Amino acid sequence: MARIEFDRLHKQFPGQPQPAVNDLSLEVADGELLVVLGPSGCGKTTALRMLAGLEDPDAGDIRLDGRSVVGLEPRDRDIALVFQQYALYPHLSARDNILYPLKVQKMPRAERLGRVQRVADQLGLGRLLDRKPGQLSGGEQQRVALGRAIVRQPKAFLMDEPLSNLDAKLRTHMRTEIKALVRELGTTTFFVTHDQAEAMTLADRIAVMSAGRLQQLGTPDEVYAHPANLFVAEFIGSPPMNLLPVAQEHGALVTATGWRLPMPAGLDGTNGDLTVGLRPEAIRLSREPVPDGQPAQVFLTEPLGSEVIVNVRLGGALLKVRTDPQVRPRPDDVVYLTADPAGVRVFDSATGASLVAPMPATAGAAA
Ligand code: ADP
Ligand code: MG
Repeated sequence: MARIEFDRLHKQFPGQPQPAVNDLSLEVADGELLVVLGPSGCGKTTALRMLAGLEDPDAGDIRLDGRSVVGLEPRDRDIALVFQQYALYPHLSARDNILYPLKVQKMPRAERLGRVQRVADQLGLGRLLDRKPGQLSGGEQQRVALGRAIVRQPKAFLMDEPLSNLDAKLRTHMRTEIKALVRELGTTTFFVTHDQAEAMTLADRIAVMSAGRLQQLGTPDEVYAHPANLFVAEFIGSPPMNLLPVAQEHGALVTATGWRLPMPAGLDGTNGDLTVGLRPEAIRLSREPVPDGQPAQVFLTEPLGSEVIVNVRLGGALLKVRTDPQVRPRPDDVVYLTADPAGVRVFDSATGASLVAPMPATAGAAA
Protein backbone atom coordinates (compact mmCIF):
# COMPACT_ATOMS: atom_id res chain seq x y z
CA MET A 1 0.00 0.00 0.00
CA ALA A 2 1.20 3.47 -0.73
CA ARG A 3 0.44 7.15 -0.91
CA ILE A 4 1.15 8.64 -4.33
CA GLU A 5 2.05 12.30 -4.88
CA PHE A 6 2.50 14.20 -8.12
CA ASP A 7 4.23 17.49 -7.51
CA ARG A 8 4.11 20.01 -10.38
CA LEU A 9 4.75 17.28 -12.91
CA HIS A 10 5.57 18.39 -16.44
CA LYS A 11 6.18 16.51 -19.68
CA GLN A 12 6.42 17.72 -23.26
CA PHE A 13 7.33 15.30 -26.04
CA PRO A 14 9.87 16.51 -28.61
CA GLY A 15 8.21 18.16 -31.60
CA GLN A 16 4.85 18.51 -29.81
CA PRO A 17 3.39 22.04 -29.61
CA GLN A 18 1.79 21.52 -26.18
CA PRO A 19 2.91 19.73 -23.02
CA ALA A 20 1.27 16.30 -22.63
CA VAL A 21 1.18 16.87 -18.87
CA ASN A 22 1.24 20.43 -17.59
CA ASP A 23 2.01 21.36 -13.97
CA LEU A 24 0.11 18.39 -12.54
CA SER A 25 -0.12 18.16 -8.78
CA LEU A 26 -2.31 15.68 -6.96
CA GLU A 27 -2.20 13.19 -4.15
CA VAL A 28 -3.68 9.69 -3.97
CA ALA A 29 -4.30 8.55 -0.42
CA ASP A 30 -3.15 5.16 0.81
CA GLY A 31 -5.76 2.62 -0.30
CA GLU A 32 -7.65 5.12 -2.43
CA LEU A 33 -9.05 4.38 -5.89
CA LEU A 34 -8.30 7.51 -7.90
CA VAL A 35 -9.70 7.72 -11.42
CA VAL A 36 -7.99 10.03 -13.90
CA LEU A 37 -10.67 11.07 -16.37
CA GLY A 38 -10.46 13.11 -19.56
CA PRO A 39 -10.82 12.99 -23.33
CA SER A 40 -8.38 11.22 -25.59
CA GLY A 41 -5.05 13.01 -25.76
CA CYS A 42 -5.42 14.93 -22.48
CA GLY A 43 -2.33 13.30 -20.92
CA LYS A 44 -3.75 10.46 -18.82
CA THR A 45 -1.49 7.74 -20.17
CA THR A 46 1.55 10.00 -20.01
CA ALA A 47 0.84 10.71 -16.33
CA LEU A 48 0.44 7.00 -15.63
CA ARG A 49 3.58 6.09 -17.55
CA MET A 50 5.61 8.61 -15.56
CA LEU A 51 4.26 7.07 -12.35
CA ALA A 52 5.20 3.62 -13.64
CA GLY A 53 8.69 4.76 -14.61
CA LEU A 54 8.14 4.18 -18.33
CA GLU A 55 8.52 7.88 -19.12
CA ASP A 56 10.72 10.51 -17.44
CA PRO A 57 9.19 13.84 -16.42
CA ASP A 58 10.84 17.04 -17.67
CA ALA A 59 10.18 18.68 -14.31
CA GLY A 60 8.39 17.99 -11.05
CA ASP A 61 8.46 15.11 -8.64
CA ILE A 62 6.64 11.82 -8.08
CA ARG A 63 6.67 10.37 -4.57
CA LEU A 64 5.57 7.02 -3.24
CA ASP A 65 5.05 7.13 0.52
CA GLY A 66 6.94 10.40 0.61
CA ARG A 67 10.03 9.14 -1.28
CA SER A 68 10.84 10.39 -4.75
CA VAL A 69 10.80 7.62 -7.36
CA VAL A 70 11.93 9.77 -10.29
CA GLY A 71 14.84 7.99 -11.93
CA LEU A 72 14.00 4.60 -10.40
CA GLU A 73 13.55 1.71 -12.83
CA PRO A 74 9.94 0.48 -13.22
CA ARG A 75 10.79 -2.82 -11.49
CA ASP A 76 12.11 -0.95 -8.45
CA ARG A 77 8.85 0.94 -7.87
CA ASP A 78 6.82 -2.07 -6.69
CA ILE A 79 3.72 -1.20 -8.69
CA ALA A 80 1.67 -3.40 -11.02
CA LEU A 81 0.27 -2.34 -14.38
CA VAL A 82 -2.91 -3.41 -16.14
CA PHE A 83 -3.48 -2.20 -19.69
CA GLN A 84 -6.24 -2.32 -22.25
CA GLN A 85 -4.18 -4.88 -24.16
CA TYR A 86 -4.00 -7.82 -21.81
CA ALA A 87 -0.39 -8.59 -22.75
CA LEU A 88 -0.70 -12.24 -21.71
CA TYR A 89 1.83 -14.83 -22.86
CA PRO A 90 -0.13 -16.85 -25.45
CA HIS A 91 1.84 -20.06 -24.96
CA LEU A 92 1.39 -20.10 -21.17
CA SER A 93 -1.68 -21.30 -19.27
CA ALA A 94 -3.71 -18.83 -17.22
CA ARG A 95 -2.02 -20.26 -14.12
CA ASP A 96 1.48 -19.68 -15.48
CA ASN A 97 0.54 -16.22 -16.70
CA ILE A 98 -0.56 -15.30 -13.19
CA LEU A 99 2.49 -17.02 -11.70
CA TYR A 100 4.94 -15.26 -13.94
CA PRO A 101 5.72 -12.20 -11.77
CA LEU A 102 6.39 -14.50 -8.79
CA LYS A 103 8.87 -16.55 -10.78
CA VAL A 104 10.74 -13.37 -11.50
CA GLN A 105 10.64 -12.63 -7.76
CA LYS A 106 12.07 -16.12 -7.06
CA MET A 107 9.39 -17.10 -4.57
CA PRO A 108 9.26 -20.72 -3.28
CA ARG A 109 7.01 -22.94 -5.37
CA ALA A 110 4.50 -23.91 -2.68
CA GLU A 111 3.93 -20.30 -1.66
CA ARG A 112 3.60 -19.30 -5.30
CA LEU A 113 0.94 -21.90 -6.02
CA GLY A 114 -0.96 -20.99 -2.87
CA ARG A 115 -1.05 -17.33 -3.87
CA VAL A 116 -2.17 -18.09 -7.41
CA GLN A 117 -4.99 -20.25 -6.10
CA ARG A 118 -6.20 -17.47 -3.77
CA VAL A 119 -6.08 -14.88 -6.55
CA ALA A 120 -7.85 -17.22 -8.99
CA ASP A 121 -10.59 -17.79 -6.41
CA GLN A 122 -10.96 -14.06 -5.82
CA LEU A 123 -11.37 -13.51 -9.55
CA GLY A 124 -13.57 -16.53 -10.24
CA LEU A 125 -10.89 -18.11 -12.43
CA GLY A 126 -10.53 -21.35 -10.49
CA ARG A 127 -11.76 -23.70 -13.23
CA LEU A 128 -9.95 -21.91 -16.03
CA LEU A 129 -6.37 -22.00 -14.79
CA ASP A 130 -5.21 -24.68 -17.23
CA ARG A 131 -6.46 -22.86 -20.31
CA LYS A 132 -4.29 -20.79 -22.60
CA PRO A 133 -5.31 -17.18 -23.32
CA GLY A 134 -6.64 -18.20 -26.76
CA GLN A 135 -9.17 -20.44 -25.02
CA LEU A 136 -10.48 -17.64 -22.80
CA SER A 137 -13.05 -14.90 -23.51
CA GLY A 138 -12.02 -11.24 -23.44
CA GLY A 139 -13.40 -10.81 -19.94
CA GLU A 140 -11.58 -13.91 -18.69
CA GLN A 141 -8.33 -12.74 -20.25
CA GLN A 142 -8.74 -9.38 -18.53
CA ARG A 143 -9.27 -11.23 -15.24
CA VAL A 144 -6.04 -13.16 -15.79
CA ALA A 145 -4.26 -9.87 -16.44
CA LEU A 146 -5.73 -8.51 -13.19
CA GLY A 147 -4.68 -11.70 -11.42
CA ARG A 148 -1.13 -11.22 -12.59
CA ALA A 149 -1.16 -7.72 -11.09
CA ILE A 150 -2.76 -8.77 -7.81
CA VAL A 151 -0.57 -11.81 -7.17
CA ARG A 152 2.50 -9.66 -6.65
CA GLN A 153 0.83 -7.77 -3.79
CA PRO A 154 2.27 -4.51 -5.09
CA LYS A 155 2.13 -1.13 -3.39
CA ALA A 156 -0.18 0.21 -6.09
CA PHE A 157 -2.16 -0.79 -9.18
CA LEU A 158 -1.91 1.34 -12.30
CA MET A 159 -4.70 0.63 -14.76
CA ASP A 160 -4.90 2.27 -18.18
CA GLU A 161 -8.38 1.87 -19.71
CA PRO A 162 -8.36 -1.83 -18.72
CA LEU A 163 -12.02 -2.35 -19.66
CA SER A 164 -12.11 -0.62 -23.05
CA ASN A 165 -11.87 -3.85 -25.04
CA LEU A 166 -14.89 -5.42 -23.34
CA ASP A 167 -18.48 -5.17 -24.53
CA ALA A 168 -20.80 -2.80 -22.66
CA LYS A 169 -22.42 -5.38 -20.40
CA LEU A 170 -19.17 -7.02 -19.36
CA ARG A 171 -17.56 -3.65 -18.83
CA THR A 172 -20.27 -2.66 -16.34
CA HIS A 173 -19.86 -5.99 -14.59
CA MET A 174 -16.05 -5.76 -14.41
CA ARG A 175 -16.30 -2.23 -13.01
CA THR A 176 -18.17 -3.57 -10.03
CA GLU A 177 -15.68 -6.42 -9.66
CA ILE A 178 -12.67 -4.12 -9.78
CA LYS A 179 -14.22 -1.77 -7.25
CA ALA A 180 -15.00 -4.64 -4.88
CA LEU A 181 -11.56 -6.16 -5.37
CA VAL A 182 -9.68 -2.93 -4.73
CA ARG A 183 -11.81 -2.37 -1.62
CA GLU A 184 -11.03 -5.86 -0.38
CA LEU A 185 -7.29 -5.65 -1.08
CA GLY A 186 -6.99 -2.05 0.10
CA THR A 187 -4.38 -1.36 -2.57
CA THR A 188 -3.90 2.21 -3.80
CA THR A 189 -5.14 2.34 -7.40
CA PHE A 190 -4.50 4.85 -10.18
CA PHE A 191 -7.13 4.12 -12.82
CA VAL A 192 -7.24 5.93 -16.17
CA THR A 193 -10.32 6.20 -18.36
CA HIS A 194 -12.06 8.50 -20.86
CA ASP A 195 -15.47 7.13 -19.80
CA GLN A 196 -17.18 9.43 -17.32
CA ALA A 197 -19.74 6.82 -16.25
CA GLU A 198 -16.89 4.40 -15.48
CA ALA A 199 -15.15 7.10 -13.47
CA MET A 200 -18.32 7.98 -11.54
CA THR A 201 -19.07 4.38 -10.59
CA LEU A 202 -15.52 3.33 -9.68
CA ALA A 203 -13.81 6.26 -8.08
CA ASP A 204 -13.24 7.32 -4.53
CA ARG A 205 -12.12 10.56 -6.16
CA ILE A 206 -11.89 11.68 -9.79
CA ALA A 207 -9.10 13.81 -11.26
CA VAL A 208 -10.57 15.46 -14.36
CA MET A 209 -7.95 16.45 -16.94
CA SER A 210 -8.05 18.49 -20.12
CA ALA A 211 -5.12 19.41 -22.38
CA GLY A 212 -2.53 18.20 -19.87
CA ARG A 213 -3.97 20.15 -16.95
CA LEU A 214 -5.89 19.08 -13.88
CA GLN A 215 -9.34 20.68 -14.01
CA GLN A 216 -10.79 19.35 -10.78
CA LEU A 217 -10.05 16.76 -8.11
CA GLY A 218 -13.00 15.60 -6.07
CA THR A 219 -15.40 12.83 -5.16
CA PRO A 220 -17.87 11.78 -7.87
CA ASP A 221 -20.57 13.71 -5.99
CA GLU A 222 -18.44 16.85 -5.84
CA VAL A 223 -17.48 16.93 -9.50
CA TYR A 224 -21.06 16.17 -10.50
CA ALA A 225 -22.80 18.67 -8.23
CA HIS A 226 -20.15 21.40 -8.29
CA PRO A 227 -18.08 21.29 -11.46
CA ALA A 228 -15.13 23.65 -11.11
CA ASN A 229 -15.53 24.96 -14.64
CA LEU A 230 -17.46 24.61 -17.89
CA PHE A 231 -15.20 21.83 -19.13
CA VAL A 232 -16.04 19.60 -16.16
CA ALA A 233 -19.71 20.62 -16.32
CA GLU A 234 -19.94 19.35 -19.89
CA PHE A 235 -17.69 16.32 -19.53
CA ILE A 236 -19.35 14.78 -16.46
CA GLY A 237 -22.92 13.54 -16.54
CA SER A 238 -25.08 11.96 -19.20
CA PRO A 239 -26.81 13.89 -20.55
CA PRO A 240 -24.42 16.70 -19.62
CA MET A 241 -25.27 19.89 -17.76
CA ASN A 242 -27.47 22.33 -19.69
CA LEU A 243 -25.66 25.62 -20.26
CA LEU A 244 -27.40 28.92 -20.99
CA PRO A 245 -26.00 32.46 -21.32
CA VAL A 246 -27.70 34.83 -18.86
CA ALA A 247 -27.78 38.49 -17.92
CA GLN A 248 -28.09 39.88 -14.38
CA GLU A 249 -31.21 41.92 -13.74
CA HIS A 250 -32.26 43.19 -10.31
CA GLY A 251 -31.02 40.23 -8.32
CA ALA A 252 -32.05 37.56 -10.82
CA LEU A 253 -30.39 35.76 -13.70
CA VAL A 254 -32.33 36.10 -16.91
CA THR A 255 -31.91 34.11 -20.13
CA ALA A 256 -32.33 35.59 -23.60
CA THR A 257 -35.87 34.18 -23.65
CA GLY A 258 -36.72 35.97 -20.39
CA TRP A 259 -36.55 32.97 -18.06
CA ARG A 260 -35.82 34.32 -14.57
CA LEU A 261 -33.59 31.97 -12.61
CA PRO A 262 -32.90 32.19 -8.89
CA MET A 263 -29.52 33.79 -8.18
CA PRO A 264 -27.25 31.66 -5.98
CA ALA A 265 -26.03 33.32 -2.78
CA GLY A 266 -22.86 35.36 -3.04
CA LEU A 267 -23.13 36.09 -6.75
CA ASP A 268 -24.70 39.54 -6.64
CA GLY A 269 -22.41 42.14 -8.17
CA THR A 270 -20.33 39.77 -10.30
CA ASN A 271 -19.40 41.46 -13.56
CA GLY A 272 -18.89 40.00 -16.99
CA ASP A 273 -20.79 37.51 -19.10
CA LEU A 274 -22.31 34.64 -17.19
CA THR A 275 -23.41 31.14 -18.12
CA VAL A 276 -25.92 29.23 -16.03
CA GLY A 277 -25.57 25.48 -15.65
CA LEU A 278 -28.57 23.27 -14.85
CA ARG A 279 -28.35 19.50 -14.55
CA PRO A 280 -31.21 17.73 -16.39
CA GLU A 281 -32.75 16.88 -13.00
CA ALA A 282 -32.49 20.49 -11.76
CA ILE A 283 -35.19 21.53 -14.22
CA ARG A 284 -38.84 20.78 -13.41
CA LEU A 285 -41.26 20.37 -16.23
CA SER A 286 -44.98 21.16 -15.85
CA ARG A 287 -47.76 20.64 -18.34
CA GLU A 288 -49.69 23.65 -16.94
CA PRO A 289 -48.47 27.24 -16.47
CA VAL A 290 -46.70 27.80 -13.13
CA PRO A 291 -45.33 30.96 -11.45
CA ASP A 292 -41.97 31.91 -13.04
CA GLY A 293 -42.45 28.99 -15.45
CA GLN A 294 -40.69 29.40 -18.75
CA PRO A 295 -42.80 28.19 -21.68
CA ALA A 296 -40.85 25.92 -24.01
CA GLN A 297 -41.66 23.59 -26.85
CA VAL A 298 -41.02 19.87 -26.68
CA PHE A 299 -38.73 18.60 -29.41
CA LEU A 300 -38.28 14.91 -28.54
CA THR A 301 -38.96 12.54 -25.66
CA GLU A 302 -36.43 9.81 -24.89
CA PRO A 303 -37.82 7.08 -22.61
CA LEU A 304 -35.02 5.24 -20.81
CA GLY A 305 -37.09 2.89 -18.70
CA SER A 306 -36.41 4.24 -15.23
CA GLU A 307 -36.52 7.88 -16.39
CA VAL A 308 -37.37 10.01 -19.39
CA ILE A 309 -35.19 12.67 -20.99
CA VAL A 310 -37.38 15.36 -22.51
CA ASN A 311 -35.62 17.57 -25.06
CA VAL A 312 -37.14 21.04 -25.17
CA ARG A 313 -36.39 24.00 -27.39
CA LEU A 314 -35.69 27.28 -25.67
CA GLY A 315 -34.66 30.08 -28.01
CA GLY A 316 -31.87 28.56 -30.06
CA ALA A 317 -30.92 26.06 -27.35
CA LEU A 318 -31.98 22.47 -26.81
CA LEU A 319 -32.35 21.64 -23.12
CA LYS A 320 -32.44 18.15 -21.67
CA VAL A 321 -34.81 17.63 -18.76
CA ARG A 322 -34.90 14.46 -16.65
CA THR A 323 -38.41 13.45 -15.61
CA ASP A 324 -40.30 10.54 -14.12
CA PRO A 325 -40.90 7.58 -16.43
CA GLN A 326 -44.62 8.26 -16.81
CA VAL A 327 -44.09 11.80 -18.17
CA ARG A 328 -44.41 11.56 -21.96
CA PRO A 329 -45.03 14.93 -23.62
CA ARG A 330 -45.31 14.85 -27.40
CA PRO A 331 -43.30 16.83 -29.90
CA ASP A 332 -44.52 20.45 -30.18
CA ASP A 333 -46.38 20.30 -26.81
CA VAL A 334 -45.82 23.45 -24.76
CA VAL A 335 -44.40 22.78 -21.29
CA TYR A 336 -43.35 25.11 -18.47
CA LEU A 337 -39.88 24.95 -16.98
CA THR A 338 -38.76 25.97 -13.51
CA ALA A 339 -35.29 25.62 -12.03
CA ASP A 340 -34.54 24.01 -8.68
CA PRO A 341 -32.87 26.91 -6.79
CA ALA A 342 -30.37 24.46 -5.19
CA GLY A 343 -29.32 23.25 -8.64
CA VAL A 344 -28.39 26.56 -10.27
CA ARG A 345 -24.66 26.81 -11.12
CA VAL A 346 -23.06 29.93 -12.55
CA PHE A 347 -19.87 30.19 -14.60
CA ASP A 348 -17.81 33.05 -15.93
CA SER A 349 -18.44 32.73 -19.67
CA ALA A 350 -14.98 34.07 -20.53
CA THR A 351 -12.80 31.95 -18.24
CA GLY A 352 -15.23 29.07 -17.71
CA ALA A 353 -14.61 29.15 -13.95
CA SER A 354 -17.42 28.31 -11.54
CA LEU A 355 -18.63 31.35 -9.58
CA VAL A 356 -20.71 29.43 -7.05
CA ALA A 357 -18.85 28.07 -4.05
CA PRO A 358 -19.73 24.46 -3.24
CA MET A 359 -21.47 23.67 0.03
CA PRO A 360 -18.97 22.91 2.79
CA ALA A 361 -18.15 19.20 2.77
CA THR A 362 -20.17 17.15 5.25
CA ALA A 363 -18.12 16.55 8.37
CA GLY A 364 -16.86 13.01 8.70
CA ALA A 365 -17.51 12.09 5.07
CA ALA A 366 -15.32 9.07 4.35
CA ALA A 367 -13.46 8.40 1.12
P1 ADP B 1 -4.44 10.10 -23.23
O1 ADP B 1 -3.92 8.88 -22.57
O2 ADP B 1 -5.18 11.02 -22.29
O3 ADP B 1 -5.25 9.82 -24.45
P2 ADP B 1 -1.66 10.63 -23.85
O4 ADP B 1 -1.01 10.79 -22.53
O5 ADP B 1 -1.47 9.33 -24.54
O6 ADP B 1 -3.20 11.00 -23.72
O7 ADP B 1 -1.14 11.77 -24.83
C1 ADP B 1 -1.07 13.13 -24.45
C2 ADP B 1 -0.48 13.93 -25.59
O8 ADP B 1 0.88 13.58 -25.76
C3 ADP B 1 -1.15 13.69 -26.92
O9 ADP B 1 -1.16 14.89 -27.62
C4 ADP B 1 -0.24 12.68 -27.59
O10 ADP B 1 -0.30 12.79 -28.98
C5 ADP B 1 1.12 13.08 -27.06
N1 ADP B 1 2.04 11.93 -26.95
C6 ADP B 1 1.87 10.86 -26.16
N2 ADP B 1 2.92 10.01 -26.27
C7 ADP B 1 3.78 10.59 -27.13
C8 ADP B 1 5.05 10.22 -27.67
N3 ADP B 1 5.67 9.10 -27.29
N4 ADP B 1 5.63 11.06 -28.55
C9 ADP B 1 5.03 12.22 -28.92
N5 ADP B 1 3.84 12.62 -28.45
C10 ADP B 1 3.20 11.83 -27.58
MG1 MG C 1 -4.30 6.86 -23.04
